[in-house]
Amino acid sequence: MLTTEAAMQTLVESGAVLTGHFLLTSGRHSNQYVEKFRLLERPDLTERLLSDLARRFRSMNVEVVLGPAVGGIIVAYEMARQLGVRAVFAEREGGRLTLRRGFRLRPGERCLVVEDVVTTGGSVREAVAVAQRAGGDVAGVALLVDRSGGRALNLGVPVEYLVAFEAPSWDPAECPLCRQGVPLEHRGSRDLL
Ligand SMILES: [Zn+2]
Repeated sequence: MLTTEAAMQTLVESGAVLTGHFLLTSGRHSNQYVEKFRLLERPDLTERLLSDLARRFRSMNVEVVLGPAVGGIIVAYEMARQLGVRAVFAEREGGRLTLRRGFRLRPGERCLVVEDVVTTGGSVREAVAVAQRAGGDVAGVALLVDRSGGRALNLGVPVEYLVAFEAPSWDPAECPLCRQGVPLEHRGSRDLL
């Protein structure tokens, strides 16, 4: 079993935790950003982190794992591999998250929804709705990193996450990094597809 500290250390070791001056999806500025693909490009570290989340859902009769594109494709695949079940992903079509590519859930199929880094919780909430619309029975939600300050945890299904931390963020008008003239990086634009 991984401790929160060990999970956080793995995340830092992967290079996913960046410091700088970032524009967040919310419009606020922050001195920290999690670039999930530094973790997801490392199958060894991703496997290690997901093994702890997989353990928590092993007794919940999960039959299929669903993640939102793009990061969720990798997370769903690795989680499904560890649980010995199928992996599907949802992607945006006309702005709306949906199942394409012939992906189907059987009526009442036990579905685990996964996501990498949650900030607003919007995508994971949509992914749960996708699974339910498709007829699935959502067994729970597994998140690698919760940066929502708990807002993403109120989904009406069991939610498990590995690490939770909120970065300091400021209204642009009050941002100390803007005041120092540090160039702003645009990251975190939601679901760049
Ligand atoms: Zn700023």
